[in-house]
Amino acid sequence: MSLKKILFVFAHPDDESFTAGATIAKYAAAGDTEISLLCATRGQAGKCGEPPICSREELPGVREQELREAAAILGIHNVDVLDYEDKHLADVPLPELAGRIEAAIRQYQPQVVVTFAPHGISGHPDHHAISVATDHAVTHMKPDNPVWKLYHVTLPSNAPFVNRNVHTDPPESITTEINEPAYVPVVAKALLAHRTQNMSVGRVFSGIFEGDYSHVRQVNYFILVWHRIFDYHLSEKETDLFAGIR
Ligand SMILES: [Zn+2]
Repeated sequence: MSLKKILFVFAHPDDESFTAGATIAKYAAAGDTEISLLCATRGQAGKCGEPPICSREELPGVREQELREAAAILGIHNVDVLDYEDKHLADVPLPELAGRIEAAIRQYQPQVVVTFAPHGISGHPDHHAISVATDHAVTHMKPDNPVWKLYHVTLPSNAPFVNRNVHTDPPESITTEINEPAYVPVVAKALLAHRTQNMSVGRVFSGIFEGDYSHVRQVNYFILVWHRIFDYHLSEKETDLFAGIR
């Protein structure tokens, strides 16, 4: 394989650190993988911090800056932020949103693409919309589709930190686990870079503001939902998103 390339496609600044931080940090540290992130909104419907650190008008710019800071901490090489309205991704016509994702795929040429599972973990309608559009972009792209594998990031229903506020998948449906305890402090730092989101960061990863990272996730969970590798069979759980790609 030539240089390994992976594209993450999410809806909001912070989705990357919440769902896939350890995975991103692992591939970035390996030094042989180019990591790109396409984020569909500037998260302008989010909070301004508690206490607020900016005005509503400033929030989109502040959140984009927070995203770029978190991305640099995790080691993401390319960050593209689209102009869509937070909470309104589902209003964007599917061919348009999928077309924007296809354009990023053509630009960055990833062998692996990762997006949300359709339930979006939190159930946010934007997470659902970006999942559907990414699936559409990858599976309808021809000719010259560089993508070999498409993953959905999710949580298994038996994970210790799962509560009834999150959507999950059955443990047996998880095809891929990336377990990287060494990168927990990096993930924590990326999460903390999303300063306007301190309420949700503190709620989901309790203790993080006191330097207790025991709730920061060392394992990320994925489902391989599509691939075009000839004769590729999963006999056991993958531990590498590039497994099987030659
Ligand atoms: Zn989100």
